[in-house]
Amino acid sequence: MPLISRFDPWRSSLCTCPPKLTFNPYSGCDHHCVYCYASSYIPRFANCRPKKGLLRTLQQEATQLKGETISIANSSDPYPRMEAETGLTRMCLAVLSQRDCKIQIITKSTLVTRDIDLLSRVPSAVSVTITTEDDATAKLIEPNAPPPMERLKTIETLISKGIPVSVRIDPIIPHVNDNPAHLIATIASLGVKHVTSSTYKVKPDNWHRFADAMPAIAERLRPFYYQQGEKQGGNLLLPSDLRLRLMMNIRTLTTAQGMKFGVCREGFAQLNTAPCDGSWLLGAKH
Ligand code: SF4
Repeated sequence: MPLISRFDPWRSSLCTCPPKLTFNPYSGCDHHCVYCYASSYIPRFANCRPKKGLLRTLQQEATQLKGETISIANSSDPYPRMEAETGLTRMCLAVLSQRDCKIQIITKSTLVTRDIDLLSRVPSAVSVTITTEDDATAKLIEPNAPPPMERLKTIETLISKGIPVSVRIDPIIPHVNDNPAHLIATIASLGVKHVTSSTYKVKPDNWHRFADAMPAIAERLRPFYYQQGEKQGGNLLLPSDLRLRLMMNIRTLTTAQGMKFGVCREGFAQLNTAPCDGSWLLGAKH
């Protein structure tokens, strides 16, 4: 099976991303976010491990690249905690930085700043996920990911070194993080140019983790998902009018700060003011 493949999330017609390729250096992820979708389709997800034959396969496949965008990574964070020792993602970037491609990193980790030298060699951009500025909330819903303040410092460092940054405020969960006005003002002041957002999509396994972490809020949300919600693929979504209101609010806050906005897999492409995934930033200099 090829390592690098076409980005095709759940074969969903809701995805409005421009064409791009993707690969995951690791199978599984150890940030253990309660809302994670990938844990429903990757076996032993909590047991994060490097992909077998990763570097050998990447070296072969990278010879075929002809300027495509490669998104790293969409089913796991490319910087799990073990990356500090293994350096595997760094080795992958060293391979790709000698080839004809553009690199988009998606991460919650501070470790991405270690690889600024490699990211500077090709058109690149980093998408940092921050769902909340509140440490206690982040600890509940993203227990092993770096605290929000460290992610903000990471953004500052990347931008100061000329790497363009977008922020994923994703997922938005009502009563948890549905009005991130302060966060949006903060990231704008750091020089972030784009925000991508979407609402929490319930799958059976992520709902169990969420309800364990935030039982009172889960009880309030249960009817919105399980009685009034919409089924899409294997997901339960909030009612469409509520999702639209939530996304409109993020769009208004984002554009008021002079940033571009994109919505991820909601069916509201009309809200996008730029390609949804922030890939328009690739190669842009701050
Ligand atoms: S960082 Fe992403 S892939 Fe990893 S557990 Fe969190 S949501 Fe899942």
